[in-house]
Amino acid sequence: MKLKISENFKKLIVNTGRKLYKQNLTIGTWGNISVLDPDTDLVYIKPSGINYNEIDLKDIMVIDKKGKIVEGFRKPSIEMPMHLSIYNARKDVKAIIHYHPIYSSVLAVTGFSLPGICEDFVQIVGEKVLCAKYALPGSEELAKNAVVSLGNRNAVFLLNHGTLCVGRDIKEAMKVCYVVEKTAHIYILSKNLGKCRVIPEEDIKVMQDFAKNSYGKQTEK
Ligand code: 13P
Ligand code: ZN
Repeated sequence: MKLKISENFKKLIVNTGRKLYKQNLTIGTWGNISVLDPDTDLVYIKPSGINYNEIDLKDIMVIDKKGKIVEGFRKPSIEMPMHLSIYNARKDVKAIIHYHPIYSSVLAVTGFSLPGICEDFVQIVGEKVLCAKYALPGSEELAKNAVVSLGNRNAVFLLNHGTLCVGRDIKEAMKVCYVVEKTAHIYILSKNLGKCRVIPEEDIKVMQDFAKNSYGKQTEK
């Protein structure tokens, strides 16, 4: 049976890549984006090594969850193993953005984690972000290390490399990208001032409950 391929999912990859590139959240060809179509279990992923401003719908690769190419004539992103390992480990994740932004990459070269210091961060990313153990880009080892350090949170740093964010859709994954980068920037500046308060664990739980159950949900009149 031939699975239905969606042009809309391809558009999401093209547009998100251009946005990341224009907003200086990644450079040139680096980073990668994928989305999972829950209806077909097909993964749409950026091609490897092509500039974001040159990537078009025809360049998007469609693969199954084992990495078999279903449609497309390019090479899929070298980080395909990392994207697939995350989809296999986290059933809630339907979109993944790996990018090379400045401030969270500063943390990713130190190996530090990013603690829960801002309310938006703890609500949509997690109580902290950990740095995964080093492995070469594109390797199965990097895929394994990323899954371990991502845990049930929505972002992970890749040592000497960059950052990866996930979401229930591409909009959410992009929001996580902005919040992680902003919080990394704030963390580095606050450390330079010499002081930074981490939100207490019990308050993080309260904020996460609020974000999950009531924030942004309009009450009926
Ligand atoms: P691709 O161009 O193959 O997606 O690789 C870029 C990258 O960031 C590798 O980690
Ligand atoms: Zn990378």
